[in-house]
Amino acid sequence: MAKPKANTETMDKIVSLCKRKGFVYQSSEIYGGLSSCWDYGPLGAELKRNLKTFWWDAMTNRRDDIEGLDASILMHPKVWHTSGHVKEFSDPLIDCKRCKRRFRADKIEEGSKKCPECGGELTDVRQFNLMFKTFMGPIEDEANIVFLRPETAQGIYVNFLNVKNSSRQKIPFGIAQIGKAFRNEITPGNFIFRTREFEQMEMQFFVHPSEDEKWFEYWREERWKWYESLGLNMNKLRWHKHGEDELAHYAKTAYDIEYEYPFGWQELEGVHNRTDFDLSRHKEATGKDLRYSDDVYREKFIPYIIETSAGCDRTLLTILVDAYDEVEIKGEIRVFMRISPKVAPIKAAIFPLVKKEGMPEYAEKIYKELKKRFKVFYDISGAIGRRYARMDEAGTPFCITIDGQSLEDDTMTVRDRDSMEQTRLKLPEIVKFLDEKVNG
Ligand code: ATP
Repeated sequence: MAKPKANTETMDKIVSLCKRKGFVYQSSEIYGGLSSCWDYGPLGAELKRNLKTFWWDAMTNRRDDIEGLDASILMHPKVWHTSGHVKEFSDPLIDCKRCKRRFRADKIEEGSKKCPECGGELTDVRQFNLMFKTFMGPIEDEANIVFLRPETAQGIYVNFLNVKNSSRQKIPFGIAQIGKAFRNEITPGNFIFRTREFEQMEMQFFVHPSEDEKWFEYWREERWKWYESLGLNMNKLRWHKHGEDELAHYAKTAYDIEYEYPFGWQELEGVHNRTDFDLSRHKEATGKDLRYSDDVYREKFIPYIIETSAGCDRTLLTILVDAYDEVEIKGEIRVFMRISPKVAPIKAAIFPLVKKEGMPEYAEKIYKELKKRFKVFYDISGAIGRRYARMDEAGTPFCITIDGQSLEDDTMTVRDRDSMEQTRLKLPEIVKFLDEKVNG
């Protein structure tokens, strides 16, 4: 595969804006940083939380057939033997003998014997297991090895019976989970795109084996629509079907949703038909009967599983990249982060036009009222234009300005970041308007 030409300039601008505005910082920065680890600052933490809620709502609260789960990161080590991860969850590693750089063999040109960076000679390919290991308890020996989960999915499979029995769901139904996963990636990079610690938003949908293809198509459609509802530019998304050589050890069919990042088209989410692979293996390993039956399906069977697996951090990066826009205004380049109100860190900013004539007092009252329902921000410092600009860079979709007229008729201007339109509304109308934009 040819190496995509990276638009490093755009990425550099986004990384620097993220630091300046408080979206994302390098981890342990004052110690020189820890490679591929990132911390979410005040705006980033809000954005991430909103994104997770947006996913959780769509996948659980707004449906009747999916239950939530929050399983622990550390699991019985046998889980990872059974799932095949100890044996199979590895990437082909290759080193350059000259410059000592390390590559994933499947990411460099097939058959190439030369280092793509310096042209030096490459070593043979060896398999490198991506799971992080640690020890449970004070004794650091083989018997006490545990793994940091490399996917949240297994926590769902081992709880299949628990959730089925306690929720009384009937097939077809799903279990959704958001949580950290860890992979000792050979080549992390591209900011928060590929890291060694990340969060996944996964949903496993249990179906009758004869209906797997129908549900697979259903979930492809649903996930596509979800990105649409997130307000992404859909021309930058596409499907990629896994070829035989790409399929994971558990998958029958797999499609990725890819996004066109400044560094090329890359996977954003995977939709996989994992068949009965995982539940059959767990049944075999534990002797527990993980078969399903009810009065509709009179036979006992191991359900097939359709998985939708999205990266939370990667979706957050996609939101940032997709939102980034530069506009020239009066000879000055201004940055607009066109983040959807549904996930924007701050929903609205409240400004008194000037620091006198009762406007700050009035604005503070409005701020306190709106704060009960939405994440809003009060700003009194600097010229109004600067205040707008700061909010545009922070991705805030609406700015509410209190002026002289507000004190007379209780209307305020609501300025829309993207259309630049200004409308005069009263407080109850603003509450309704924000509710529709944020939760609608
Ligand atoms: P790749 O082949 O690129 O390593 P994968 O196909 O193994 O990725 P999956 O196992 O399908 O990835 O993971 C599901 C989702 O989890 C991905 O689509 C991605 O959004 C997210 N993800 C996987 N690995 C990472 C990572 N190292 N950093 C951030 N997100 C990740």
